[in-house]
Amino acid sequence: MIAIVGAGLTGLSTAYHLKKRSYKIFEQQNTAGGLCRSTYVDGFTFDFTGHLLHIQNPYTHRFIKKIAPGTFKKNIRKSAVYCRGRYVPYPFQANLYGLPQEIVYECLMGFIKTHLRKKRSQSNVGFKKWVLETFGEGIAQYFFFPYNEKLWQMDLQKLTSQWASWSIPRPTLPEVVQGALGIQNTGMGYNASFFYPTKGGIGVLADALVKKVKNIKLGTALASVNLAKKILCLQDGQKISYEKLVSTIPLPQLLTKIEDLPPAYKKICTKLRFVSVHNLNIGVNRQQVSPYHWIYFPEPEFPFYRVGFYSNFSPHMAPRKTSSLYIEISAAGSSETSPETLLAVSLDGLERCGIIKKDDRIVAHNYTNIEHAYVVFDKYRQKNLPGILKFLKKHSVFSVGRFGAWEYESMEDALLQGRATAKELI
Ligand SMILES: Cc1cc2nc3c(=O)[nH]c(=O)nc-3n(C[C@H](O)[C@H](O)[C@H](O)COP(=O)(O)OP(=O)(O)OC[C@H]3O[C@@H](n4cnc5c(N)ncnc54)[C@H](O)[C@@H]3O)c2cc1C
Repeated sequence: MIAIVGAGLTGLSTAYHLKKRSYKIFEQQNTAGGLCRSTYVDGFTFDFTGHLLHIQNPYTHRFIKKIAPGTFKKNIRKSAVYCRGRYVPYPFQANLYGLPQEIVYECLMGFIKTHLRKKRSQSNVGFKKWVLETFGEGIAQYFFFPYNEKLWQMDLQKLTSQWASWSIPRPTLPEVVQGALGIQNTGMGYNASFFYPTKGGIGVLADALVKKVKNIKLGTALASVNLAKKILCLQDGQKISYEKLVSTIPLPQLLTKIEDLPPAYKKICTKLRFVSVHNLNIGVNRQQVSPYHWIYFPEPEFPFYRVGFYSNFSPHMAPRKTSSLYIEISAAGSSETSPETLLAVSLDGLERCGIIKKDDRIVAHNYTNIEHAYVVFDKYRQKNLPGILKFLKKHSVFSVGRFGAWEYESMEDALLQGRATAKELI
């Protein structure tokens, strides 16, 4: 029997692609879906922050059509960066027009200087160096440094650039010049378009998968694992023998649960770093509070790094004549700031940038602390991750998914990794 721990997209996709092989899924929550879930509050549909499906692989298109036909609608990104009191179209580096002239000049000259140096930035250098070598000082200073300091909550010298080379668009010199002159660059980057369900929020994706798999044990948390005996113990005391174990829970948590983990691997549990995200969702009694799908906030005077608008993904996300928003505030490791404080500072920030008006009323809200949100790409991870994953695999444990593989993975990646894992197991 193949034991799958976690019924997020990776676990569900693994089960789906295992077809006739015998498996059981153990999920600690009472609902499947992991981060790909939706909640319903006073007529509003909220996700666990914005979850937009960006598809790169043709298989994902076929897969989505098969499991959830007619559910998703394609949207073309409307996204901006709020800087110096203005909304600059995303990506910042390719759309400088509209910023104060001296800033456009600084950004443009910095980019031209790096371009003339013709030194190609390597993908394995530190993040700070990668940004300077790729975009120059101005763009770094006005966007990449403050934004990433806010998101990662750490000294950027300690961050590697492994995650950046695929996720950050790198315009050419002509494109940067065009953008500085007001000829807008559209369609750049992996997230230029996205798919989103017409009704029900992103959770309908996981719900569709749940209907296609069996043997999901909800409210069942993994307590411990014995690698030598191939036995896992659940929190209710049940012991289960497995042939192979697929774990999608955060890797450090899995390691702490392994009874016979060699001492050499024990310190990895505390040294793999992560960022958590406070997610506030709010409903406002006014239509179209913003024209965007989401906005980045690099400046330190705003507590959030990103704000998005569910009601612009689909009108069915909010009651008529209202809007709905998600706010993302990151914290290093686990954080205990009260939701009330976070809501108060967020509303103040939203008012200062003009999204919320004085007379607006908040008619619904909820809060989630996403404890593991972003894994930190530092040198420790780079050096130690391959060894521990290899060790686990040698003992028939496949640690996969965004937090199992300790990666920067999207929902599409989760679906594809589930498929790849099942293929390997079969
Ligand atoms: C802030 C944020 C924004 C994001 N935005 C996007 C986006 O716009 N587009 C996109 O494509 N992707 C986005 N993602 C990424 C996306 O959420 C993930 O790639 C995907 O949902 C990961 O699925 P998973 O199954 O690997 O992990 P999870 O969804 O985390 O699933 C793991 C499951 O394991 C369960 N579990 C944990 N511990 C135990 C235990 N001891 N016993 C049993 N079960 C356990 C959990 O309850 C959970 O259900 C975002 C992620 C974050 C954090």
